[in-house]
This record gives sequence, structure tokens and C-alpha cells, in this order.
Amino acid sequence: MPRYAEDHERYDDSNRAFLQAFMARSTMTFSEAKPVLAAIFSVRDEEQVSPEDITEDDLQTYIAAANSAISPFDLEIRSILPQIEINNNDPNAPPPPAPERVYALVNTTSDALTQLATTYSADEIAFVKRILDAMFDTYNTRRQEAMVISSMQALQLAKAGAGDANRRESGTQQQQATQGGAAQSLTMTQAETMLKQLLEQGWFEKSRKGYYRLSPRGLMELRGWLVAAYNDEGIRKIKFCAACRDIITAGQRCGDRDCTGRLHDHCMRNFFRMQKSESCPVCKSAWPGDRFVGERAITMSDPAAQRARRSAANAQQAEAGPSTQFTLPEMDVEDEVDGGEEEAGSD
Ligand SMILES: [Zn+2]
Ligand SMILES: [Zn+2]
Repeated sequence: MPRYAEDHERYDDSNRAFLQAFMARSTMTFSEAKPVLAAIFSVRDEEQVSPEDITEDDLQTYIAAANSAISPFDLEIRSILPQIEINNNDPNAPPPPAPERVYALVNTTSDALTQLATTYSADEIAFVKRILDAMFDTYNTRRQEAMVISSMQALQLAKAGAGDANRRESGTQQQQATQGGAAQSLTMTQAETMLKQLLEQGWFEKSRKGYYRLSPRGLMELRGWLVAAYNDEGIRKIKFCAACRDIITAGQRCGDRDCTGRLHDHCMRNFFRMQKSESCPVCKSAWPGDRFVGERAITMSDPAAQRARRSAANAQQAEAGPSTQFTLPEMDVEDEVDGGEEEAGSD
């Protein structure tokens, strides 16, 4: 029962204040919205309203009003549940805390990279694009759907041409890239600064283990673009959770690598309860529970496989000699060949 809903036939100063507060930050959760709305209501009602009095319905009412006001400007407040990774396979462990929904103001027409172009240079955008290619293509393979990159890998992409960018540019990006000729490399310092800014502005997140990944905001803004850039007929690099239908970049996968069954950690419990069996939502085979997508595809992969990879990498290094630049020992790039089929049609 929204206490204040009845007042909201029209868009007033309180709605404007809410939208302003929203625009002043890149994202907002219900907990963060409580003091904001309490302050707004206190002014409007000329009496002290406590943050504890704010309900989820109040927030929804204000978001709905804001959305009608901003839709003519191709803006929309959208939300996503952060993908909480549960690094614990103990079946008796207490259920993890429910993740708190994150709201963000998203441009509904232009892709997020186009928006970044108002702040960053073409070369900087090309660097971001190389990072996205690394996350969603190079390190998102059939064998290992990591969708994260280490700081070292990110910095190696400062060099234009590294990881190679230009094959699947969106239309706008292509224009920008060709307008000023090929993208130039960034210096290490420029790349470091850029990464820092992307973290501060809430596009990327850095995990405790030092991997960069797209933040909830980044995912909301880039969802459409990612699908357009990395999915094609028969190729589905960007996958969706079978329970909540939202994009999945951290969660669990079916035991069959060719099956598209994916579930967020926070969606799994309820989903299996409703389905009444712990089986893959797509192919119905038993759900393994220890096959991951996201960072854990690297950090929690089968130890035997990891050992084998490491010794193979060491052997290669030994053969090549110490001076040779080794690349990305942690990552499994052996089935990079399956990226080949996507390169068709580079107009
Ligand atoms: Zn889900
Ligand atoms: Zn399956």
C-alpha cells in the first residue's frame, strides 16, 4: 500500500527532485532510495518522514512517474539484479542474502558506446571495444565462459590491433573508427586512467581477485549492444538465465557444453524448487552444480584440468625460451578456433 501513491496523479516538484537525485548518480538501490525519498517527502509534506517509512511501492511509484516524464527523451530507468556468485557448494549452507535490485537511467535508443563517445576520444572508445571483445569473445569460449579479464590482460589491450577489434563494430563505431583512420594505441598510463574512470563511473567492476567485468549498470546499458555484437545465427556468446530471462555473465551452466542451460546463483534455488528437480531447464539432464560461467570458470575450474593446462603452458614456455612473450597463461584459449566462423561477412 503506497502511502503516497494517491498524491501522484500529477508530476510535481517531488517527482522532479527524485529524478534529479537519480540523475546525480549512476545507479540506485531501494536502500539508497529510502533516505532520498524520505528527504523529498519531508519537504513536500512539511513533516519529518523517516527512511524506514519508505516502501518499495513508493519507489516504484516514483520510478513509474519518472519513466513517463523521461520517455520522450529516449531515457528509461531500468533495473537488474546483481549476479551474486556463491563460492560455496555446501548444500547445508544458509541461503545467500538476496541481491538488491539496481536501478539505472538508461538511454533507450543509442548504445552505451555511442554515449561514451561524448566523453571519450575515438581511440579510448576503441580500447573499451577491445576490452569488450576480450570479455565476450576471446575469453568467452565453449571451453571457458569467463567473460572477465585480468588487469594485465586489459592493459595489454592498450595496443591498437591487440585482440582485434574491428571486425564486429556497430555501425556508429565503425564510422567513428574510419573517420579518423585506424584507432591508435593508448599508452599504458592512458589505459590505466581509462580503466580507473570506467570503474568510477560504474561501467566496470573489479573483483577481489582483480578481474574486470561489466557492472550491473554496464550490463543494463549494453545488453542490446552485446547481443547485436556477439550473437549471430547459431552463435550465442551472450546467454540468458533460464529462470529470470536476464543476461547472465556470472552463474552456473549445464554439464553439456553445447546446451544453452544457464542459471544465476541467486535464481537457482527457487527455480529448482518450482521445477521440483535439479535438472537443466533446457536439456533436462542432471544439473552438475559445479560448472561455472563468469570468473569462477577460471578460478574454480576442475583442478585436474587446471594442472594440465598449467603444465602445457610451462612446456610451451620452456620450448619457446624465456625471452618469448608468453600470453595469458591462466586462460584457456585453445578453442579460439571457434571464433573463426564468426568472422565471415566483414563487408
Ligand atoms: Zn536469473
Ligand atoms: Zn542442459
